[in-house]
Amino acid sequence: MARINLGGIVPFSTIDWRGKAAMVIFLRGCPLRCIYCQNYNLLEDSHYVVMKEIEEDIEKNEDFIDAVVISGGEPFMQPQAIEEIAEFAKKHSLFVAVQTNGFYPAVIESMLKRKLIDKIFLDIKAPLSDEKLYEKLTKVSGVTRKVKNTLDVCIHAKIDLELVTTVFKNLVGGEEVKRIAEEIEGAGAAYCPYVIQQGRAEIVPDKAIKEEDMFSYEELKELASLAYHAAYLKEVRVRTREDGEEVIYSRGRS
Ligand code: SF4
Repeated sequence: MARINLGGIVPFSTIDWRGKAAMVIFLRGCPLRCIYCQNYNLLEDSHYVVMKEIEEDIEKNEDFIDAVVISGGEPFMQPQAIEEIAEFAKKHSLFVAVQTNGFYPAVIESMLKRKLIDKIFLDIKAPLSDEKLYEKLTKVSGVTRKVKNTLDVCIHAKIDLELVTTVFKNLVGGEEVKRIAEEIEGAGAAYCPYVIQQGRAEIVPDKAIKEEDMFSYEELKELASLAYHAAYLKEVRVRTREDGEEVIYSRGRS
């Protein structure tokens, strides 16, 4: 049984998986150091727990939830933990999703083959053709190749996939979102919902991002318009912490 480097548990969330009531399990550790990290308290230190503790939490909540979302940090740093959590959740008839930065394509590929995961939320932090910007954002080089591989792996596995970009002014804005939309289409993932997520300045450490760099809800909708009109994406949504996710454009709707 795995010892799990746990960041925390949110027993009930309706904003992490649209349409589902989910328990969110945060795993510690991440190979990246994003300048706008919204969970930087999970990047260092350790807090190991035994799987039994997580099982008890799932059992306590199972009547109120229909899914478990594994988040981080970067969850795929702890594949055994994901495997055990997912197996347990499945035994309790719960859906399982993982939020990932895409840094571990080989691990993801082997996990998807086991069919324990129902959905992947994949960060596309910047255009995948812009290694320089990706490196500026994540402080690590060579990330785009891995994220591209992860995207391919997920498409190939036909997993339910959602693609997420966190936006800040002067960092990742209209031009970047347009290019990402084109790249999503080019990669054959236009059928996946594309989520433009409001970056939050107040939870970024050391005031590295200023309040005025945050996009307002109206501005997020403008970004959604740019993405939707740049490529033939099936659906574009915006996500804010206050209001959760909203579908702004959908080709499936009139
Ligand atoms: S990938 Fe996510 S958890 Fe890791 S540093 Fe970046 S924002 Fe933080």
